[in-house]
Amino acid sequence: MYIKLLWDLEQEELSTQKKRQRIKEIEEELKIESEINLLKDQLGDVKKELEVFLRHKKSIESDIEDSNKSLINIMEMLESKKPRTIKDTKRLKKEQDALAAKIESLKLSLEAREKEIRDHEEKEQLLSKKIEEDEETLKVISKEYKKLEKEVKEESKQFQKEFKEKVKGIPFAVISKYMEVKEDFPHGAIAQVEQGYCGNCGSKIPLEVIEAFKKGTEEQIVRCEVCGKILFYQ
Ligand SMILES: [Zn+2]
Repeated sequence: MYIKLLWDLEQEELSTQKKRQRIKEIEEELKIESEINLLKDQLGDVKKELEVFLRHKKSIESDIEDSNKSLINIMEMLESKKPRTIKDTKRLKKEQDALAAKIESLKLSLEAREKEIRDHEEKEQLLSKKIEEDEETLKVISKEYKKLEKEVKEESKQFQKEFKEKVKGIPFAVISKYMEVKEDFPHGAIAQVEQGYCGNCGSKIPLEVIEAFKKGTEEQIVRCEVCGKILFYQ
């Protein structure tokens, strides 16, 4: 019955240990905070670039507008019946061609800028969404972390108190041996014998050991020959 008592206590402690494990996992997951900061830096850069592109786009557009006005002017001059030398006509036509070529090239630049703007707006949207999601995750795990920390603290305190109280009746030799084995297996020093096999490592327990358990020598500490855990026979 001593081993059963210790086994029951270990089962109780197990849920606290699982919480401790989860706390460790969360500590890893909390690194998301620095990832969020990186994403925010990236978002800042994208926004700055976007501003530059938008300014550039505006200036190209006004350039196109001015060039168009000049072009229309020249075309009107060419179409007017006002007398003019051949040399002047030639000069105007040359200017007309130059302006038309300039407008073409400006339009190409404008297209390129517009594509960059679209790409950056898309990037901005994706980053904002990712930041929002990550911040939500951070909020959730931070909350879980705090809750578990508090629970583990309370449960450990409670468990230690209960443990001391409950093992009072167990002979010193048994409890000290148990504590020794537990040093090697902090998450549980006892394995239950399940249909003749060790519940921890799965190796077959010798028949004479089972027989001894059946005869009621369960007050003794018997360890699995393979993994070393203390065996508990229900
Ligand atoms: Zn074993």
